[in-house]
Amino acid sequence: MSEIAAGPGIAAATLDDLLAGRLPDERGRFGEFGGRFVPETLMPALALLEIAARDALVDPDFQTALARELKDWIGRPTPLTRAARLGGAWGADVWLKREDLAHTGAHKINNAIGQALLAQRMGARRVIAETGAGQHGVASAAACARLGLPCTVYMGEVDAARQRPNVQRMRLLGAEVVEVTSGDRTLRAAIDEALRDWVSDPEGTYYLLGSAVGPHPYPWLVRELQAVIGREARSGMLDAAGRLPGAVVACVGGGSNAIGIFHAFLGDPDVELVGIEAGGCGPGLGEHAATASLGRAGVLHGSRSLLLQDEFGQVRDTHSVSAGLDYPGVGPEHAFLAAIGRVRYDSVGDDEAVAALEECSAAEGVIPALESAHAVAGAKRLAQERPGATILVGMSGRGDKDLGILDGLRDGDGEDE
Ligand SMILES: *Cc1c(COP(=O)(O)O)cnc(C)c1O
Repeated sequence: MSEIAAGPGIAAATLDDLLAGRLPDERGRFGEFGGRFVPETLMPALALLEIAARDALVDPDFQTALARELKDWIGRPTPLTRAARLGGAWGADVWLKREDLAHTGAHKINNAIGQALLAQRMGARRVIAETGAGQHGVASAAACARLGLPCTVYMGEVDAARQRPNVQRMRLLGAEVVEVTSGDRTLRAAIDEALRDWVSDPEGTYYLLGSAVGPHPYPWLVRELQAVIGREARSGMLDAAGRLPGAVVACVGGGSNAIGIFHAFLGDPDVELVGIEAGGCGPGLGEHAATASLGRAGVLHGSRSLLLQDEFGQVRDTHSVSAGLDYPGVGPEHAFLAAIGRVRYDSVGDDEAVAALEECSAAEGVIPALESAHAVAGAKRLAQERPGATILVGMSGRGDKDLGILDGLRDGDGEDE
């Protein structure tokens, strides 16, 4: 393993550094977090990716092509919906940023199409991705189909059995789904396989990472591609409500939808930013996935961030009713934002999230994904702390995919594990 990130004790970075574009720094760090902790063989591929991404994001031709796909294929801008009945019940002014209405039903497609366009521009012959619950696999498969790029998705055998409809979707979209039978046969094993594939052909293969995690430049690149959520939401609030929200609440798994909606508001000191993690079924190690709230610094999947580990530094399994939040790490920019206190991280448990899903569905005619329901529950709590507040909620995805899990809970046989 080589690393270009220094350990703790480096010069302290500030919010001003972030706002001025000085973070991530040239070593890919957000303060003490981030960096590149990967096998030596992957360093050239990451360096090439960084150069290509920096070049693409300032190229008007690339931006025009991306803007066209966001509008004509994904359906952006997504609406900003005033949730008057929820707001009435909670004593607050509540707004939903509707990523559930983006093509394929969640925000993940914003990142997938952006990186697929980058892969095409870099001349990649094929795209690989890994997926846990299958949502990122579906987004990647759809984006690759759109651009005519061959796509291989690695998915643990256990996850593939749990998420059959997503395996079917990926195959319909023309992707090859490789069911991984090694290791824990879930997301962690799928990541190992995807990395093995990439190392064997770093030039011809593009690795499409699904959240604001991993080695530099991915956390930055994914944030840049998801920041459209916050840009739209900020100007939408000014247009529709005539003011900025008092608070923005989003759920945090790896952290891509949250960093996407937060970014446009980081420089607004009066806007409180709240990230909601999966509180699962309790505060004990293994019972939740509240990484930024309860984790400690360490290295996972190529970068230094906060993680859930035991006293020996072993990364521990996590639990959440929501597959998309069930991850022991969190993106390095979130670890930084937690460290400097710009974003507050809190957690919401399984039961509270399910209750919020039901309440939002019945009150607003919008069924949130279980992940997004954590943000809804977080907003409800915030409304109790700050009566009358204007609260913007990141509705990261729709809940149709979760009906089977809700059925399982009602039948009393727990989650779908
Ligand atoms: C995957 C997913 C998430 C969690 O991923 P982030 O990278 O933290 O955004 C949240 N909501 C939905 C609907 C998802 O599919």
